[in-house]
Amino acid sequence: MLIEHIDCYVLTVPLVTPFKTALRTVEQVQDLIVTIHSSGLTGYGEAAPTLVITGESLASMYFVVEQVLKPRLLGNSMLDFNQLLHIVQTSVVGNTSAKAAVEIALYDLKAQIAGLPLYQLLGGGPVELSTNLTISVNATATMIDDAQKAVALGYQQLKLKVGTDLQQDIERVIAVSRAVPASIALRLDVNQGWTAKQSIYALSKIEQAGVELELVEQPVKAQDLAGLKAVTAAVHTPVMADESAFSPQQVIQLLEQQAADIINIKLMKTGGISKAMLTAQIAGLYQVPCMMGCMLESAISVAAAAHLASALSPLVSKFDLDGPTLCRFNPCQGGTVFDRSHILLNSSPGLGIQQLGHLQSAAQFLAAAN
Ligand code: MG
Repeated sequence: MLIEHIDCYVLTVPLVTPFKTALRTVEQVQDLIVTIHSSGLTGYGEAAPTLVITGESLASMYFVVEQVLKPRLLGNSMLDFNQLLHIVQTSVVGNTSAKAAVEIALYDLKAQIAGLPLYQLLGGGPVELSTNLTISVNATATMIDDAQKAVALGYQQLKLKVGTDLQQDIERVIAVSRAVPASIALRLDVNQGWTAKQSIYALSKIEQAGVELELVEQPVKAQDLAGLKAVTAAVHTPVMADESAFSPQQVIQLLEQQAADIINIKLMKTGGISKAMLTAQIAGLYQVPCMMGCMLESAISVAAAAHLASALSPLVSKFDLDGPTLCRFNPCQGGTVFDRSHILLNSSPGLGIQQLGHLQSAAQFLAAAN
């Protein structure tokens, strides 16, 4: 049960359409893949580089895995699992996505050793989940078109990206809400694009127009806790913290100050599965619900998030796990099925990945990029 090899690759998968938020535009998923090998089994992990959110790049994540975590993990026993997690979490500060990739691979491997699908190893839960679809920020007519297409494909929840221009944002939200059936839940993600005053103004206008949003996500800057608290206190719409909520310590601070109504948990922010579980449990102590979200990730790390979300039900009750459906194809053979809004967890051990394609050696990829 010793850890024999750890390898890093770069996975490239084009997106169906460019992904646009107030922070960035992305045309393809290009993620770090980590494989961990023990006793003839392979655990898979994945991490997305998001310079403007976690501060990590492919090069920084590769460095952390290859130079910092790998030498400390090789030769250890998978049976000393908590010690392995301790090494991952304490060998370097920050670098949460690199840590997540390694933790996901370790948990996948542990579940395979136990002969259980990951969600059962983590405590069990529903095998089917329903995700929202993200609608990129664009001209109002394009957003209406994208929203109506999503509804036609069966999505019951839409996440509208806004935060680029206040007046346009208000118009976009009201127009999209009038263009889709009332039964469709609308989530708004501002990605830090408004000030507290603008948020209170915009959300009041939206509320006055009779639009009932399910939630508004991260209206103000990540560091602006006072602003987040002011918005949460002032508007009827539930406020969800995303970029303000990375670590369990930050979540305690937010909840102590009643600065948010919902917490968005992402493996890339918490540093993997162990701290994501802790975060959900902390929110549960405050009786605050959680969403399980993802960055622009493909079917490996989003599958891990889906398994974890299942096991954390009902602490986690909302799912924003649309990364794989935004991709042109699923690079995995076997594993969790992502069929539009419908996610079906695998019953095979671990994440159930039999093979993973579209990989390049990370060392070669980064050498060629320099
Ligand atoms: Mg967000």
